[in-house]
Amino acid sequence: MLAIVSFTLGPVFTNAYLVADNETGETAVIDPAWDGRLILAEAQKRNWCIGHLWYTHAHFDHIGGAAEITEALNPPPSVALHSADHMLWWMQGGAAFFGFCIDPGPKPAVRLEHGQTLRLGNVTFEVRHTPGHTPGHCVFYCAQAGVLFSGDLIFQGSVGRTDLPGGDWDALVRSIREQVYTLPDETRLLSGHGPETRVGEERRHNPFMRI
Ligand SMILES: [Zn+2]
Ligand SMILES: [Zn+2]
Repeated sequence: MLAIVSFTLGPVFTNAYLVADNETGETAVIDPAWDGRLILAEAQKRNWCIGHLWYTHAHFDHIGGAAEITEALNPPPSVALHSADHMLWWMQGGAAFFGFCIDPGPKPAVRLEHGQTLRLGNVTFEVRHTPGHTPGHCVFYCAQAGVLFSGDLIFQGSVGRTDLPGGDWDALVRSIREQVYTLPDETRLLSGHGPETRVGEERRHNPFMRI
């Protein structure tokens, strides 16, 4: 069964998620933001073994904890990112643009693709490519648990910004309509910033998607 521990970390309050199959202890970190040691300590406390880092996208605030987590683990976790965000990863996720400097950690070796299945023990996640906030943005849908990890695509009452390099408003709207609003109303949305919400709630009330 899927177990989820949420963290809100760093100067722009980024949500990181420790996700595990609590029967096998196989674990991934979705967006290892900022304080890698804290995420690692929580996993160790629960006897969970972090085998994967899955990135919704390569912005610096979502990957800054990767180096600390990786250094402490042997074997190191595999790192997964969509190839359309590799350029952004090489630029440290745009950290310098915001006056930050981060260690981006190990190079992503797993290329996420639309429709790909990711596994943690008996729990599976579907990768959905959702460009708009960045060209390689992806979300992770766990149908068994009824949860979508939506990164910076959609938030409670808001959507991801598209004014940064690689942003595309029309693509963002299309991604939300086709990849999020097609999911069941009761699907939990765990996003990259802000509180949890649900698909039905956003379909009815998200003010940015009414146009
Ligand atoms: Zn972002
Ligand atoms: Zn973000």
